[in-house]
Amino acid sequence: MLHAIHVVNVDPHYTSQQCNRCGTIDKESRNKSRYICKHCGHTDYADVHAAKNIRDTYAGRCNRTGIPSIGEAINTVPAV
Ligand SMILES: [Zn+2]
Repeated sequence: MLHAIHVVNVDPHYTSQQCNRCGTIDKESRNKSRYICKHCGHTDYADVHAAKNIRDTYAGRCNRTGIPSIGEAINTVPAV
């Protein structure tokens, strides 16, 4: 039986530079593997922090059912 997953493209700009808590964009906040917001002091692992921004960008485009809004580019790929 084949199952399908949805793949959604998210613009990666600033995902590693924008604070997930306060929204400030500052490339100086990334320090190697750590993200330390110079505005609010929020800290996280840089890659995890960027992934949260990608998640939130995607979630912000979904309606209440979790389905991307009409017009969203979705590629349906069979799961292996
Ligand atoms: Zn911040």
